[in-house]
Amino acid sequence: QAKQAGKGCYTILTSQMQFQALERMQIEVELQEALEREEFCLYYQPIFSLKTEELVGFEALVRWQHPKKGFLQPSAFITVAEETGLIEAIDFQSLKIACQQIEEWKNTVKVNFPLVVNVNFSARQFHKQEVVEQIKEIYCQAKLDPGVIKIEITETAFLEAISTAKHILEQIHSDGIQICVDDFGTGYSSLSRLHTFPAETLKIDRSFINLLDDKVEGITIVSTIISLAHNLGMDVVAEGIETKKQLEKLKELGCEFGQGFLFSQPLPSKEATELLAKYVPIRI
Ligand code: C2E
Ligand code: MG
Ligand code: MG
Ligand code: MG
Repeated sequence: QAKQAGKGCYTILTSQMQFQALERMQIEVELQEALEREEFCLYYQPIFSLKTEELVGFEALVRWQHPKKGFLQPSAFITVAEETGLIEAIDFQSLKIACQQIEEWKNTVKVNFPLVVNVNFSARQFHKQEVVEQIKEIYCQAKLDPGVIKIEITETAFLEAISTAKHILEQIHSDGIQICVDDFGTGYSSLSRLHTFPAETLKIDRSFINLLDDKVEGITIVSTIISLAHNLGMDVVAEGIETKKQLEKLKELGCEFGQGFLFSQPLPSKEATELLAKYVPIRI
């Protein structure tokens, strides 16, 4: 096609591709530096019980304070991090920060309810046996009970390298870490395998929650996912709740938990702490 469009066009395409390749290489180098300089931080999006409207936990979401480009969202770097394998180190750093944060909350806000912090892990982590020990080391170092952490993994992780991933997830799970299937419904359907994996929570992808506003089919799809999860003994979290209507529908359908801009954006540590302090009676 480029040939057909003439030589000039071909050249433009090539230099654009070169530019993209260079940009990626630059991000890769910068990511490596960011890990060393600890430029990553976490934002915390509150997760609520839809029934009682109580705060039940947070999802930790990585952010990059880039020395030149400023504050970056995951969309600006996660793909390159995945492709270069640097995502693994980023995930461990995120888990470390989350554990330190929980430890701090235990001491300062005196959390006295079973608060859980969800941490996202790349699917590629579950191809390697070492991940089991690496995770354990991090929460042991923070002197935390593994029950306060929930690992979120996208649906794909449950499909790729099936037996290895399953075996590794089972070990992490038997150590006491809870597991959440993230973005459910966006991958290739893993319906037939879902029940064989150790996971207590299923998170419905935002794209389905969006459908609840005006599409009858949306209600059917979400209701089916919720029933499936419940039949498998799993809790359900709806992600990306933005409207009252979506919330009302989800309550009707028996969805237990939710997060989304309707309740709160992901919050910096300080604001998450303030929110927590409001919910938790301080005991001395
Ligand atoms: P995710 O795990 O599905 O996280 C939910 C994303 O939806 C977050 O985007 C969150 O800010 C956004 N969100 C929450 N509520 C709403 C809403 O009501 N409306 C809309 N439009 N969006 C909402 P964010 O923080 O940009 O993260 C994007 C993705 O990056 C995450 O999707 C997750 O897959 C990945 N990610 C974030 N942190 C980490 C990490 O530490 N490790 C790994 N491997 N992936 C991470
Ligand atoms: Mg997630
Ligand atoms: Mg998600
Ligand atoms: Mg999502």
